[in-house]
Amino acid sequence: MNDCIFCKIVKGEIPSNKVYEDEKVLAFLDIGPVNKGHALVIPKEHYVNIYDIPENLLKNVIAAVKKVSKAVKKGVNADGINLNMSNDPSAGQVVMHFHMHVIPRFKNDNLKLWPQSKYKEGEAEEVKKKIKENL
Ligand code: 5GP
Ligand code: ZN
Repeated sequence: MNDCIFCKIVKGEIPSNKVYEDEKVLAFLDIGPVNKGHALVIPKEHYVNIYDIPENLLKNVIAAVKKVSKAVKKGVNADGINLNMSNDPSAGQVVMHFHMHVIPRFKNDNLKLWPQSKYKEGEAEEVKKKIKENL
């Protein structure tokens, strides 16, 4: 994928602030951090998102996410970490190369995450059935 910005980062064609690297995985600072220390963990090989990445490679990515999460938390003295991943543009995915966000959080950073809703009576069971049918 020549026009993929994260493939270019892997190849060193675009500079990045790398925080972790191994044979299959790279982690670097997000150029527009939610909070300072916000990192992205990606497989070096191009996959679009959670749907197409092979399970074995996903294990490498998640192992790196764990390492990087602990390092970010200590490194910027964060109070917590959010892991976030957007899959598909409708979910907010902008860069179409698999990436997991590692976002340091601070007690008073005033970020609000997801709004919540409620199920009607019997609705959760219906939704559960539809999901289980597709496993
Ligand atoms: P998405 O919205 O696809 O989940 O996240 C894409 C992320 O990539 C954004 O948070 C954005 O700031 C980051 N990003 C986009 N282009 C670059 C770049 O060239 N370098 C770095 N380090 N991050 C980038
Ligand atoms: Zn790519």
